[in-house]
Amino acid sequence: MLIDFHVHTFPDKVAQKAVGKLAAISGIDPFTDGTVSDTLAKMDRNGIDISVCLNIATRPGQEKHINDTAAQLKDISGGRLVGFGSVHPESPDACSELERCAELGLAGIKFHPDYQEFVVDETRMFPLYEVLQELGLFVTFHSGWDCYSPDNIHCPPEAAARVARAFPRLRMCFAHFGGLRMWDDVERCLAGLENVYFDTAMAASMGMDPSLARRIISKHPADNIMLGSDCPWEDPAVSAAWVRDLRLGDAASEAILYGNAAAILGV
Ligand SMILES: [Zn+2]
Repeated sequence: MLIDFHVHTFPDKVAQKAVGKLAAISGIDPFTDGTVSDTLAKMDRNGIDISVCLNIATRPGQEKHINDTAAQLKDISGGRLVGFGSVHPESPDACSELERCAELGLAGIKFHPDYQEFVVDETRMFPLYEVLQELGLFVTFHSGWDCYSPDNIHCPPEAAARVARAFPRLRMCFAHFGGLRMWDDVERCLAGLENVYFDTAMAASMGMDPSLARRIISKHPADNIMLGSDCPWEDPAVSAAWVRDLRLGDAASEAILYGNAAAILGV
């Protein structure tokens, strides 16, 4: 059993354009064409049972369409794709849209501070975090370095830790093992915080030191780390192999590969 907690899919009519644009920015050859059907086909090939599909509203006003589409993923995929919702921080109805996401049954929300132009610990974000905390919605952030904004880090581990401490009941996943290419800071600032979660997306491709990964895992709550690939930007087979190669023992390995995600998603 494998659950990939960090995947991107797009509606068919925009997939080619969206993936093409992101491939040009990142310089990465995509593993899927971004459509639901190709994602499901590649999941079959890799033995991935469930993928969590993360969406981003890059402009205010896109939320309703994105969240309605995310809510339909479960049905059209026979339960194999689970959609996270999105709100743009500058959207005038951001807080009520978060409530609608909960009503739609979405498992969580994804923020991308670089594409949505905010820094994780800006106080203008706090009303949204408050609502998420009260709703009990899980939240994932793109964290650390990003090719879209390489010189300006919007979610560094130190700032992420400030938010996690300010909202102790909010379950926050800082993607890319807490902060892409900032893993020394992850160990120093984020490892051990009870409401902080990590996915493993891009750790393999970006050359995270396995011994540092093991150290962070040993300091962190065992239930709070999930397999992630960032598919189509990393082949999920590569991500899963990287986790297995950490040689954490069967129980810890299985928790990361699917058990922890299953508990969060209630599957
Ligand atoms: Zn991603």
